Amino acid sequence: MKGNLNIGTYLGIPVKIHWTFGLLILFVGYVGVTNGLNGKEILAFGMYMLVLFFCVVLHEYGHAIMARKYGVKTRDIILSPIGGVARLESIPEEPYKELFIALAGPLVNVIIAVTLSIVTLSIYNGGIFPSSESLELLKYPSEFIRFVIVMNIALFVFNLVPAFPMDGGRVLRSLLAIKIGRSKATRVASMIGRILAIGFIVFGLINSHILLTIIGVFIYVTAGSENKSVMMTEVLSNTKVTEIVNPNYTIINVDDPIELPMNIYLRGGEKNFLVADHTGAIVGVIPELFLIDAIKNNVKNLLAGQRMSDKHVFLPEESTLMDVYKLMSSQGMSIISIVNQDGDRIGIIDREGVSRFLEIRFNNSKAKKSPV
Ligand SMILES: [Zn+2]
Repeated sequence: MKGNLNIGTYLGIPVKIHWTFGLLILFVGYVGVTNGLNGKEILAFGMYMLVLFFCVVLHEYGHAIMARKYGVKTRDIILSPIGGVARLESIPEEPYKELFIALAGPLVNVIIAVTLSIVTLSIYNGGIFPSSESLELLKYPSEFIRFVIVMNIALFVFNLVPAFPMDGGRVLRSLLAIKIGRSKATRVASMIGRILAIGFIVFGLINSHILLTIIGVFIYVTAGSENKSVMMTEVLSNTKVTEIVNPNYTIINVDDPIELPMNIYLRGGEKNFLVADHTGAIVGVIPELFLIDAIKNNVKNLLAGQRMSDKHVFLPEESTLMDVYKLMSSQGMSIISIVNQDGDRIGIIDREGVSRFLEIRFNNSKAKKSPV
């Protein structure tokens, strides 16, 4: 991903920092100066911030290791000034797996806090909490450790706020999912998340707590997109390709002029075409992008066969729209043949068809929800 700096791979998972992370140096300086800290104290505060992010990384590894137990890979761990995220390749749909993956992160913070508390109690006098909130105390090792304990307790509590994308949102969703199913659970969890997010924003604005306001906005936006993506997954997996297969389509011959599909396209007809050879076998496709390019560059004297892609796949009629969607999003397919058990083509599904279907489906579900 652009804007991320790879700082190493541990346990097979790359750890990256987002460029905005650099702003933290300014933040440390700003906080140091406004709190009247001297050079040594600012350095200690900087160290403290580093330890904070180290704990965040360990927290993310908690999620990643638990996910690995369930066979889910972690693409990478990204750190930004507002926190870290372990980007899992998928979220298991079984509620208890999601629950344990979500809990594994905060659990790491509990382990750190408990371990450091034991260390503190055994080597220093006094309790496990700093004697005051003053950042000047960070220069004393005993107080530094106490601040780290508080930090881990805060990370634990904060991450369990029941709002997406916080771990607490996932915990809430998975617990609800056991009772009411995943999509309903997501809807309820998103709604609770949004209400909390508004609370954060309002509270942050009133108390001029900018960070809380930003986090509130972030949660609000993410809660909505989480809900949408689950709804979409559900619709895609529950729709058979036969429901939207298009039996009326034009097959272009490799020897046809490229103008033929161009004209159909320009007249507002089909947007993606199959290309067959002389025997009628499909040998390639002409996607919409190729046509747009040909029209832009005014290419007319070519044959369809010279302007096609040989990327073409068949899907059996029992497939779901999710299979189609995966081929389109991961392999860039634009048109797919659907075949019956005898291997005969019963029609095609192209990008246009999928997006029209989703549009209608989601507008309908909105219409259903609005008050009559
Ligand atoms: Zn987490």
